[in-house]
Amino acid sequence: MLFPLLAVALQLPAQAPSASYWQQEVRYEIQAALDEGRGALTGTQRLWYRNHSPDTLDRISFHLHLNAFRPGSRWSDLDSLERRRRFNDLKDPDYGYNRLAHVRVNGQPVAAVWPLAPDSTIVRFMLPRRLAPGDSMVVEMEWEGRPSTVARRQGRRGRQYDFAQSYPKVVVYDRSGWHEQPLEPAGEFYGEFATYLVELDVPADQVVAATGVPICGDPGWEAANRVPDRPIQYRRDYYPRAPAYSLIRNRCYRQGGEPRDIALPPPAAGAAARKSVVWYAEDVHHWALSMNPEYRYEGSAWGNVAIHVLYRPGDEESWGGGVATQRTARALAWLDGFFGPFAWPQITNLHRIEGGGTEFPMMIHDGSASQGLIIHELGHNYVMGILANNEWREGWMDEGFSEFQGQMYEEAAQPGNDSWPWLEARNTGLDLDGMSEPASLVSGAYRDFTSYNISIYSRGELFFHQLRYLVGDPAMRQIMRTYYDRWKLKHVNEAAFKAVAEEVSGRDLSTFFAEKLHGTDLVDYKVGRVIVGRALPQDGHEWHSRVEVIRQETGRMPVEVWVFAAGDTAMVRSEGLAEREWVTVRTRSKPKQVALDPRLRTRDWNMLNNTWRQGWLFASREPKRSRYIDTWFSERVRRDRLSEGFLPTVWYNAAAGITLGLRSRENYFGRFAQNLSLVSVGTSWESDRDVSDADFFLRFQNPTWLRSPGLRQTFEAYNVEGRFGARLELERTRRPHLSFGPTHRYGASLTWMQPDDFRYLDAGQWENAATVEFGLSAGVTDTQNGWALGSSVTAAGGLAYSRRGLATATGRPDLDPFYGRGTLEFTARRNLAPRLRFGARLYGGVSTSGSLPVRQRQIYLAGADPLQRFGNPFLRSDGALLVRQDVNYHMTGGGNLRAFSPALSSEGLVALNLEMEHTVYARPRGKLFNRIGVAVFGDAGHALGERSLDVAADAGVGLRAEHRIGQTSFTTRFDVPLYVNRPAFAQDANATSEKVGFRWLFSFEPGW
Ligand SMILES: [Zn+2]
Repeated sequence: MLFPLLAVALQLPAQAPSASYWQQEVRYEIQAALDEGRGALTGTQRLWYRNHSPDTLDRISFHLHLNAFRPGSRWSDLDSLERRRRFNDLKDPDYGYNRLAHVRVNGQPVAAVWPLAPDSTIVRFMLPRRLAPGDSMVVEMEWEGRPSTVARRQGRRGRQYDFAQSYPKVVVYDRSGWHEQPLEPAGEFYGEFATYLVELDVPADQVVAATGVPICGDPGWEAANRVPDRPIQYRRDYYPRAPAYSLIRNRCYRQGGEPRDIALPPPAAGAAARKSVVWYAEDVHHWALSMNPEYRYEGSAWGNVAIHVLYRPGDEESWGGGVATQRTARALAWLDGFFGPFAWPQITNLHRIEGGGTEFPMMIHDGSASQGLIIHELGHNYVMGILANNEWREGWMDEGFSEFQGQMYEEAAQPGNDSWPWLEARNTGLDLDGMSEPASLVSGAYRDFTSYNISIYSRGELFFHQLRYLVGDPAMRQIMRTYYDRWKLKHVNEAAFKAVAEEVSGRDLSTFFAEKLHGTDLVDYKVGRVIVGRALPQDGHEWHSRVEVIRQETGRMPVEVWVFAAGDTAMVRSEGLAEREWVTVRTRSKPKQVALDPRLRTRDWNMLNNTWRQGWLFASREPKRSRYIDTWFSERVRRDRLSEGFLPTVWYNAAAGITLGLRSRENYFGRFAQNLSLVSVGTSWESDRDVSDADFFLRFQNPTWLRSPGLRQTFEAYNVEGRFGARLELERTRRPHLSFGPTHRYGASLTWMQPDDFRYLDAGQWENAATVEFGLSAGVTDTQNGWALGSSVTAAGGLAYSRRGLATATGRPDLDPFYGRGTLEFTARRNLAPRLRFGARLYGGVSTSGSLPVRQRQIYLAGADPLQRFGNPFLRSDGALLVRQDVNYHMTGGGNLRAFSPALSSEGLVALNLEMEHTVYARPRGKLFNRIGVAVFGDAGHALGERSLDVAADAGVGLRAEHRIGQTSFTTRFDVPLYVNRPAFAQDANATSEKVGFRWLFSFEPGW
């Protein structure tokens, strides 16, 4: 619980949200010139800063964002930790940088301090004289900024420059102090609201877009305009306080001041002509810029807001023809209705180098013109731009918020479109796996970038949906508009939003905010006692259902208690706070059923205890259940009920002939109640051994009452085809990170297997002895430097016995009842070329006892051992479909020397398998035959002990095909082991007695 507590401490600074609010006053005056030869923007900057805080300041700090995109930065180091390579290896001139020089405060030179060195995304200057409340100062400097050629929220490619950041940007000083936050993969921006005046000098053919309005000069839109009959809305006169400029021969000169020339090297002879464009903006906390001489321009407007769209050659269909302008206008209209009027004169939507999107004031850099992306990024102009939260500390306030408003747009545009079921199931699944982190952690505190993303986007969005459920739609709409109206163009935080939500809804939302933003508590409500009775006539209702709602977990949400009666339905909300709470639901007719939260709005993880039903005699608490005919390939999974699939089965073995069965499998939420039961009857039809038998197989897996993150519990009991037994297995999976790094598995099992009818069994693999075996296993898989690696180890000890006594167990008087068994396996795969895949497997196994161990527990040379084969009805018994003279089937396992007889076993074995596969055909979205490959393989092994084969080896060629039917993906494999060093022991032994010859085998599994 350290994390959530820490988060609460860090993120809830005690502050009154409105009365004592202040923000610093900042004005930037920047002159900058683009040197395309060096890919850099060079500038001078004059920052005027007034201290509105009640504190005396001793320093001033700046963000140098572009220094993140270079080797050695914190960003690069975090990428390395999470195994991403982006900026870590970039060389000059590919990496990005920000440099500054000649920094003066009120004219006095100051020296740079790098508080986060070696990271240089923050620079600090101690003030020569402290700045008292109300005082102002001027900070001047020269700087240069270059984006990286690998794009990430910024970038350059050819002549396109996405200067998301360029100039040294003053760090915010607010009630929690200076926010000297390095730029890292997780977390975005936080800025002081400021006035920007930027005099830009660029090559004359550049088409330029930026935050603000071009008060002087030609941004190049006219020449790039695709709709020339629509006048371009420059909005040059929007700001009455903007300084006046005159344009003389492509250059802007400030009136009433000295014409200032930007310090640029004089243009070389024949160099392209240049132009200046002056940008001006007020009340924005960042100034962004992008340019590309190939940009196409389309303009439009929504109300008073000008829309500028800039796209690239080739985007005519996807962006052009009014597509992007209309979608931008639609987003503006929606957001105006959702929050209130847009605060700025224009919005620019441009096609950036990178995919995805990033938001800047008055500007969105988008990788596509999809409506969803435009709604989301433009939504950020409200939540983050105008309602300016600190994106490092409270990412949910921009990402979760914009996801939510985007979803509200989808819902309005297309009723029934609901992200909730998907979001809810995904996040609750992560909660159950113990992989969740709260929505409101400081970005650097998240486990990794993936967890940061899931938490602030997805869990953040969930928070708003739950708030909507809690306060209702009308209050939710009012909260949005009040919050916007009160806090626009200010810095916001959780406290600001919570105060508005509480005021509008009239509710105390402390518990809700604390739990849903700062915790990951599971929710489980259960129907307790239900008392149904007739009410007094004066109530006007005939029936009262008193329902006890039991809270089983720490998570709290108001719960809908529904009563379905014979002729009507009623619902009452319980508060959901107490551990036990009684609610009374009135109906006009006799209650039949009680259901808690049937719309699943509380995120109740266990919906199997939410139902109460009146039966003929007794009430039942059986969960809701849906039954279906199973097709084997796809299992149905429901979030709100148990699903149960029935599959009639038919197979064959030599003893009982045609065997008919009915299999049922259950599932809840894809993770619980994964039970399986099978009853089958061996009919003795088409059998030469005339056995008729009734069998059963039962498996209980992951009951809800044993919920434990990452732990799978399995219990099996069976009497199947001449064997009975039981198995108990626990397996724990641990995955420190969802998107990279190792997956660990630990297991323990107890297996009892007693053969009792040898008419089913291959005497070559089964001896007349029962075994009880306790085993431990551990394994790890990981991907490193392109290699998919795996290793696993098992160790087991067992007892072999018979009903007739240990000594005579198998007719082998020498049999030692105790045995030990261990295996070790290493696998490695890697793509050597895009279509060429190499794989290797090293295996060692030993089965040891005072005598030769019973056959079913020896180490198998060619593939799976008898206990593993038992799991497959087509392999488990003599004469089954895949165990016949003329069928050469390979089930992987053991030494995996695929060409050899599956009956070969020994006390020990080491084996090596190698395979190289070339994909000759692939259609990833296909079903059958979505990939076809040809392979060469070789297997070699050395057996130990009595039944030693000494050295065994095979080699050959094969064909592999991959398929997908429903949810099931599988491989078919056809191998031709052209070489077998001991042909007499080959599975396909009749084909040839030569070492080299044609033999074949097939499988429904990959080689390993
Ligand atoms: Zn976003």
